[in-house]
Amino acid sequence: MAGLVPAISIGAFRCASQAWGGNERGGKHPRIMTQFSLTDDQIAVRDMALAFAAENLAPHALEWDEKKHFPVDVMREAAALGMAAIYTRDDVGGSGMTRFDAALIFEALATGCPAISAYLSIHNMATWMIDRYGSEEQRRHFIPRLATMELIASYCLTEPGSGSDAAALKTKAVRDGDHYVVNGVKQFISGAGVSDIYVTMVRTGAEGPAGISTLVIEKDMPGVSFGAQEKKMGWNAQPTAAVIFEDVRVPVANRLSDEGMGFKIAMSGLDGGRLNIGACSLGGAQAALDKALAYANDRKAFGKRIADLQALQFKLADMATELEAARTFLWRAAASLDAKALDATKLCAMAKRIATDTGFEVANQALQIHGGYGYLADYGIEKIVRDLRVHQILEGTNEIMRLIVARDLVGRGNRP
Ligand SMILES: Cc1cc2nc3c(=O)[nH]c(=O)nc-3n(C[C@H](O)[C@H](O)[C@H](O)COP(=O)(O)OP(=O)(O)OC[C@H]3O[C@@H](n4cnc5c(N)ncnc54)[C@H](O)[C@@H]3O)c2cc1C
Repeated sequence: MAGLVPAISIGAFRCASQAWGGNERGGKHPRIMTQFSLTDDQIAVRDMALAFAAENLAPHALEWDEKKHFPVDVMREAAALGMAAIYTRDDVGGSGMTRFDAALIFEALATGCPAISAYLSIHNMATWMIDRYGSEEQRRHFIPRLATMELIASYCLTEPGSGSDAAALKTKAVRDGDHYVVNGVKQFISGAGVSDIYVTMVRTGAEGPAGISTLVIEKDMPGVSFGAQEKKMGWNAQPTAAVIFEDVRVPVANRLSDEGMGFKIAMSGLDGGRLNIGACSLGGAQAALDKALAYANDRKAFGKRIADLQALQFKLADMATELEAARTFLWRAAASLDAKALDATKLCAMAKRIATDTGFEVANQALQIHGGYGYLADYGIEKIVRDLRVHQILEGTNEIMRLIVARDLVGRGNRP
């Protein structure tokens, strides 16, 4: 093992690093192992997001869920605090923070409402894609208004015939002078019908990933329409619908990067999106665990508080332990993405699976601790369980997360 290297700084985040020879592909770059402690700045950012969640999200979350209300005004308040363009560069109005900061923020917001935190995550992901892959003109045109959420963004990859196999997408963009003519349908699009900006993966070339490009399609372009709002198990505080493109003329100037780059752009957006959605699961689960603790201290059975039953204490201990393990690993993956580590995509996939599976299980156990009351809407637990369930499905299902990890393991033919 090589010697210790000094502590390095990743944005505002301090991370002590230790390196040893050889990366996962056997190259010369060191594999970085990180240990974490939050800086005062990060604690302040997290506390700000926690306070925002407690004051502006939690008191309304059940009503928004019941009434299927998308609180755009409240999201704009979050944007005013810098939470709509967290890891977008600050020269165009972004907050210029790290993926690690974003993980802290999304976890904190999700303690108030996982569905709204998750929507802010999608908006942040689409905004970052424009910042990272857009021209200077595109960045200056779109991002200042995305950072304030004057414009709301959606991410359009999934189609009726292609979800996990995203590279099979069929929405076609045919070049016609200075425009593309776009035809096709995007399925399950979060924010559809409300969002102003649709960062859309389209086929401009041959079959497969190399034939995909990314266009920024605007709501008011003629030929853009929306399907009926989907009736869902959870995430009711945000809309989900199909986005339909019929002969939509999209200026070539709205293409991000070169033709054929779209699949790469879509996947690199998802690395961060997976961390964010994992963080949303942690926050929802933490809120459920806190509710379960309070309930167990109050509820009596067999002459004592149920918190005094050792079986229940062990259950609570396991919930807290597993949540902390998932959080620690998610932080590790976020640091790897900040450091642009070679294995960041794999670590983000691992973190997404662990955080969303653990988050759902912890929330479900919290419901169990509430007994029959956990099943009632007023207690706020069943809403968290319903919201967290979809995190195991979207941004790539947890089976696809295993596929990414397995490809890396088997593909490189390495021994552990
Ligand atoms: C509420 C909600 C919001 C969403 N928001 C968005 C959005 O904003 N933008 C967007 O683009 N998409 C969005 N999605 C779509 C989501 O990303 C897809 O549903 C998801 O990627 C899975 O695709 P699918 O539903 O077509 O399932 P399929 O791909 O048909 O998969 C069906 C099952 O087969 C499994 N499977 C498939 N291939 C493999 C394999 N190779 N190995 C093992 N198992 C496999 C899957 O894991 C799954 O269990 C949203 C979905 C929902 C439910």
